This record gives sequence, structure tokens and C-alpha cells, in this order.
Amino acid sequence: MKILLKHGRVIDPTNGTDTESDVLIVDGIIEKMKPNIAAGKDVQVHDLNGMIIAPGFIDMHVHLREPGFEHKETIETGTLSAAHGGFTAVCCMPNTNPAIDNASVVRDIRTKAKQVNSGLVDVFPIGAVTKAREGKELAPMLELAEAGAVAFSDDGAPVSDSENMRRALEYASMLDMCIIQHAEESSLTKGGVMNEGFISTSLGMAPIPSIAEDIMVARDITLVEYVQARYHVAHVSTAGAVELVRSAKAKGLPVTCEVTPHHFTLTDEAVRSFDTNTKMNPPLRTRDDVEAMKEGLRDGTIDVIATDHAPHSYDEKQVEFLYAPFGIVGLETAIGLAFTELVHTGILSVEQLIEKFSINPRKILRLPSIKIAEGEKTNITILNPNYEWTVKTANFKSKSKNSPFDGYKLKGKAWGVVNNGVIYISL
Ligand SMILES: [Zn+2]
Repeated sequence: MKILLKHGRVIDPTNGTDTESDVLIVDGIIEKMKPNIAAGKDVQVHDLNGMIIAPGFIDMHVHLREPGFEHKETIETGTLSAAHGGFTAVCCMPNTNPAIDNASVVRDIRTKAKQVNSGLVDVFPIGAVTKAREGKELAPMLELAEAGAVAFSDDGAPVSDSENMRRALEYASMLDMCIIQHAEESSLTKGGVMNEGFISTSLGMAPIPSIAEDIMVARDITLVEYVQARYHVAHVSTAGAVELVRSAKAKGLPVTCEVTPHHFTLTDEAVRSFDTNTKMNPPLRTRDDVEAMKEGLRDGTIDVIATDHAPHSYDEKQVEFLYAPFGIVGLETAIGLAFTELVHTGILSVEQLIEKFSINPRKILRLPSIKIAEGEKTNITILNPNYEWTVKTANFKSKSKNSPFDGYKLKGKAWGVVNNGVIYISL
């Protein structure tokens, strides 16, 4: 198949590229890249009118729910949701049933991902740190790595046991992989449903204090300093945790972190609505925490934007706040929220946005970097920064619609993606 993208603006922060160009793609390979390429026969032509062509975006924190919870999402619906949101790759978390704690589950997921949606979206499984994510005995990490796992996490639950965390960091280090921690000191969060503070008190809701996150990040950084292994904080949400990562980086420790769009957009004020789509873990925090997320993104403390895409069925969320499961879908609003909250407000440049959605997660996961150049495989996200749109959850490609952003007016969206020889246009 031949695809000609006319009048694109190719931005690749890795080599400092920012140039206007046409791009001719033949069977998934960039054959020509220069202005004014003539459209030959049998060429599918798209005029991008100055839209941005960036290295393909990856969401390194997604719950695809398969195997085990296919009523919430499947590999097929989840990867379609990813493509629609502007991602050419996702990493899937191991809290499936069975958990991703052995080689055969890793292989099954990778095989299935290649079969759905013409293999458009690359799926990189994240292996469990402990067997069945129970926090007791380490999972066979070498075996998981050999089968294709790209990192380790017990996400949904923390690795609480310090000895387990130490050993996991040591093994991961031998494999040059990182441990992704869901940072939560569980003894402080039992029964909690929202951030501890003025609003939880006034609503009479059981609290999740921010210190539960800070304490776990502090312990982990102490371990990292001792064993010198790579460590990544999932969905950082507190000012204290961002400050801990900042000082760890200042010491030269191999510590990185990610933030979700909801944690740089919403505060715990949103919970006053009692909308169960404002219930997530970690919970929505205070205005000061949101400002700390933005400052962390701006100064580079926060390396990555990842969604923590957590689909739940309508029925599961349609219950009292106390009983609703944690989590929201994120793949189809991430880029819109990031442009609206970060780029159009001057906090991040477009180059920095691309780094946090594409370059940095690939570095952390040791995935090959993407080059937008003649002769290279095409793996691109095409962005329309000024497209104004209203979120309609009913139109989501995800099997689940649990998002607090229904009706939000956003500026900026993915126009489409090209990967593995397939083009997907979402606008
Ligand atoms: Zn988590």
C-alpha cells in the first residue's frame, strides 16, 4: 500500500528535526521525505495542512483486561481505543486473570495483539513482580523477560515487602529492566476511597492520605540508592512524591516517573459530584498537588505521561461511590487533555510533549527509538494541535466509557497513526 502525506510538519526531538515535508510511505517504509512529492498511481493521498508528524506515541500504563476481564476490555477493543487516541503502542499491566506472571501469558498476549486490528498497535506486556501479584514470592522474572515482558510491576497493588522489592530491583538490574511501582503504603490506605483532606472530611468519605504515596516512594528510593537499580514510579500524584523523585534525580539515581492526565487536570473537588468516574487510585489530589505535577512536567522531573487506562463496565461503576471500583479509561482523552492543559497554557512545548509521550517511555523501557527518515519503518502519530472538540464517551472505541471528562471541550487531538504498514485515521 502507498500512502502520501502532504504538507506535514515533521518534529523529531531526538535529532532536533522540525521541518515541513511530504512523506511517501510504501508498504510501511518511508520511501521519500521531502517537499512537493508528486502523487503517482495507486497512492492514497492525505493533505495534512501543516499538522505535526511525530514519532509514534506509546502509553506505558494500560490495563487491557484480557485475559480474565473481557467484559471490561479486550486486546482488540483496547488497542483500537489506543489507535483512536493517537497511540501506536501500549504496555499492558499484569493484573489480569491469570496474572502476567509466566511466559505463556506473555506469549499469548503478544500473539493476540498481532492478530487484532491488523497488528496496528504494538503491545508490550509488563510482567508481574510477584507470583499472582500476591506480594509473597517473586515471579520468574528471567522467563518473563525472555518471553517479551518489557518491565515488571504488581500494579494495582504495591510491592510492599522490602526484601521482595530489593531482590526484584537486583534481578531487574541484571536484565537492564526497571521495576514500576504502584507506590502506596497499604497500612495507611485501608478502606480509603478518596484523597485525605478537607473534602474527604466534609463528605465523610474514608481517606487515602498523600503520605501513603510519599512513604513508599521514599522507601523505594532508599533501596535504589543501595542496590543501584532502575526504578519508575507509576502514576505519581502527590507534591511530596514529585519532590522525592526530583531530589533522587539530583543525586544521579536511576529514578523516573509518570503522571496521568487526570492527575494534572482534576482535583479532589471533582469528587463532590459523587460521580464514581472521579474514583481512582491514586485518588485525585489537591490544587497544590496538581500544580506540583505541572511543575514536575515542566522541569523534567516527570519523564512520562501515561494514562493508567482502567476500563470498567457501566454496571460496575453504576453503584454507590464507596463500592465502585477504582479507575477510568484514558487512551482517547490523553492527547487532548495534554494539549489543553499543558501545551496551550505554555507549560510544555510540543517537543517536550512528544518526549513525554514517545521518546522517554521508549528509553525507560529500552525499546528501539523511532526514526522518521527515508528507509525507516513508519511508526508515527499525526497531531492536530488546534482541533477543537467535545469529549463524547459514547463514541469511545474502548469497550468501557467510564470517564469523568464526558462533555469536556478540548483543543488538540490526534489525526491518526501509521504503524506496521497500517494507517488509522481518527479525525
Ligand atoms: Zn496503579
